[in-house]
Amino acid sequence: MEKVNDITTLWRKQFPILTQQVNGKPLVYFDNAATSQKPLRVIQSLSDYYTRYNSNVHRGVHTLSQMATDAFEEARELTASFIHAGEKEEVIFTKGTTDSINLVAQSFGEKFLQAGKEIWISAMEHHANIVPWQMICEKKGAKLKVIPMNREGVLLTEELYQNLSENIALIAVTHVSNSLGTINPVKEIIARAHTFGIPVLVDGAQAVPHMSVNVQELDCDFYCFSAHKMYGPTGIGVLYGKRKWLEAMPPYQGGGDMIETVTFEKTDYNVIPFKFEAGTPHIEGAIGLAEAIRFIQETGIENIEKREQELLHYAMEKLSEIEGITYIGTAPEKAAVISFLIEGAHPYDVGFILDKQGIAVRTGHHCTQPVMQFFDIPGTVRASFAFYNTEEEIGRLAEGIQKAKNMLL
Ligand code: PMP
Repeated sequence: MEKVNDITTLWRKQFPILTQQVNGKPLVYFDNAATSQKPLRVIQSLSDYYTRYNSNVHRGVHTLSQMATDAFEEARELTASFIHAGEKEEVIFTKGTTDSINLVAQSFGEKFLQAGKEIWISAMEHHANIVPWQMICEKKGAKLKVIPMNREGVLLTEELYQNLSENIALIAVTHVSNSLGTINPVKEIIARAHTFGIPVLVDGAQAVPHMSVNVQELDCDFYCFSAHKMYGPTGIGVLYGKRKWLEAMPPYQGGGDMIETVTFEKTDYNVIPFKFEAGTPHIEGAIGLAEAIRFIQETGIENIEKREQELLHYAMEKLSEIEGITYIGTAPEKAAVISFLIEGAHPYDVGFILDKQGIAVRTGHHCTQPVMQFFDIPGTVRASFAFYNTEEEIGRLAEGIQKAKNMLL
């Protein structure tokens, strides 16, 4: 136990933001599923870029431009190896998970979706993995179908498997649910889908920061994630796509960098990944993402996963001492997310009282309104852990909840 605490102290030292007081109390940051905190080295990598080699990437012959291009392309290579992509050209830098999904919905949908075809998503998707599909289905006259779930927050995949057919153009499913914590059996879904030649997109926003992801082993066709949830900067994310799909798909946006030649009559598009990266990219974002990946690799993703599971179990034990808590999302396979309600109290009021004690949790629907509709609730209080959190902080959450109960009930 002492050893774990020593390591945690070392880990926490790298996150300057964690040492501050909020509302006169030491900050307890349990909103990691919304965005994680950033270690100093990531913050420094951004300022280093601006102080030493700020310049636009690609095509520049001068030294600074070459330095920036090298760092940007190294970031792509590192990202590819981090998720075990076969080649770096299969890694496209986007604004984040939302942008990655919109890219596939618009581009893949434009080419491969026709009237009467189906797109399947699941009952626990983030709005980012619902709305883009609704938009393209509406445009194309295609149907959006939903894999249902049970009251534990486990997907009823048989419903999908029994309906698999060549009429399904694509399946888009989250790896880990942000509001329930459920870890979905994406590998099995992909294997089953492939027997019908159906491509699968995985929303990995809540998976990549917490577990080892191997896109080749999963055999997914697309995989999306955001840097800001994995200790990196905001405004940058990744779309991994298999070469065969990316090459077959039309560009998403037009502009500089995504072209080979332009005349007023005709444009020839660049090769992947540049075909999907119109305009000046988020250069320092990619550099910051690369630093975040180095940080994760040095910390060890397996250590992160193990520690977060310990925290999850400890929190469940600690909170079970408090009466009147209903948990939303009780799947056996769960990431370190606890969504709950205190009987008789509105989640917003609970969140407000916790904030007054320096404890940051998220309240509301967590961009998963259909999940709230399914459970017939207005929202939840969500505590989501990162490996830098501590048992002591969980103790403070338990005390905070008790205090909220005393004040509200
Ligand atoms: N999918 C899931 C599962 C998420 O948790 C989130 C972020 N809450 C998103 C998609 C959207 O990510 P971003 O806002 O970074 O685009």
